[in-house]
Amino acid sequence: MQIKLQFLGAAQNVTGSRHLLEANGTRVLVDCGLYQERQLQARNWDPFPVSPKSIDAVLLTHAHLDHCGLLPKLVKEGFCGKICCTPATAEIAKIILLDAAKIQEEDAEHKRKRHEKQGRKGPYPEVPLYTTEDAEGCFPLFSHVRYRESINLGNGIEATFYDAGHVLGSSIIRAKVRQDGQERIILFSGDIGRPDRPIVCDPTVFDYADYVLIESTYGDRIHEEVADVEKTMGKVINAAIKAGGNIIVPSFALERSQEVLYYINELRQKNMIPELKVFLDSPMASRITKVFQNHPELYDKKMTDFVKRHKSPFDLPGLQMAGTADESKAINYIKGTIMVIAGSGMCTGGRVKHHLVNNISRPNNTIMFVGYQAIGTLGRSIVDGVKEVRILGEKRSVKAKIIRIHGFSAHADRNELLDWLRELEAPPRGVFVVHGETESARSFGNYARKQTGWQISVPDYQDQIVLD
Ligand SMILES: [Zn+2]
Repeated sequence: MQIKLQFLGAAQNVTGSRHLLEANGTRVLVDCGLYQERQLQARNWDPFPVSPKSIDAVLLTHAHLDHCGLLPKLVKEGFCGKICCTPATAEIAKIILLDAAKIQEEDAEHKRKRHEKQGRKGPYPEVPLYTTEDAEGCFPLFSHVRYRESINLGNGIEATFYDAGHVLGSSIIRAKVRQDGQERIILFSGDIGRPDRPIVCDPTVFDYADYVLIESTYGDRIHEEVADVEKTMGKVINAAIKAGGNIIVPSFALERSQEVLYYINELRQKNMIPELKVFLDSPMASRITKVFQNHPELYDKKMTDFVKRHKSPFDLPGLQMAGTADESKAINYIKGTIMVIAGSGMCTGGRVKHHLVNNISRPNNTIMFVGYQAIGTLGRSIVDGVKEVRILGEKRSVKAKIIRIHGFSAHADRNELLDWLRELEAPPRGVFVVHGETESARSFGNYARKQTGWQISVPDYQDQIVLD
């Protein structure tokens, strides 16, 4: 067998997922993600390690930017094959890529102005990494694949997508390569979800594979026990209503915002909270919520039952989706307790900053965090308990109640990853640990090796391996 696998991203780091599979003269790229860690962002500007023209197809696991965010650049530089993914992934990826292009354009413009002021050039060109036009340029290449339907990529290579339970439409990809009368199965885990999460199904498990690429975002951690998210949210909301304050929820546009709406609706249905005005103040989250509404076939059993009984959880009474900036500003003048769900999830940009300016200094208000807060972000400073913050150039004292709700993670932890791997009934020929910081990937690799005795390694950036 002569199958080549090259790790072109998310190798001893989390973002920039790109894995190149090469066999029988065909080149298939699994994911084409943007690097988001500050120290690796320069790689986004490097020429692709292989010529985009020479790649025959892209298989896209899901719509997060660190998996799809470099597609416009790949297409701009000559890729013209199909981008295969589930219909929900394609719909969400288009929304996310247009948003990313707009941010790239704005960043370039800011940089240009700043450099002009300072009379200097660089470090990066003052042109956007890609434009809205470039993002739109890759849309015609999207090709829809349904779960469990095999697609033929030619030259003895087949691929099948399975539900990864990470975000709506997310996939684990099983590639089958035939060569000289033999066959090899290679599993690309993408990002693996957790069992029993709302809305999406549990991750698919597999009983056989020759090679596995497994993510390790939380490969060195065990998630805290999920103290009933629903009950905790109910308590926070009731306390805020009693105090006569508002609830501000910094949230990610994909999956987290929809999960928060799901829980609010559950609480309403069970009469655990009174009717409440809820604003989803993020045009991107509103657009993505529509994709969720368009794909009820992807819901898990609990959500399907919910929809049968109460219609969509995204239609709850009192919910308003703010579109324009004026609609967003008007929220400030509403009397009585309101809940505002707004991006960005770590308060690094977006409309949530305005809501924080207006709400963070009043003790009867609540800021409810529902997601991971990376070091160095405004969200992190607030959850770490600083007494004063600078938001949009204004100093504000932090007097609102700061609440963190755990249990929302969309990634499997160390034990859940190992459980997923252990569904394989025979040791694979090789397991490659990707999509994790060096420490996390190595820690998971060592742990899984000890527990299984299998051949497990942690590849580095641009490593190339010949599979036999
Ligand atoms: Zn993801």
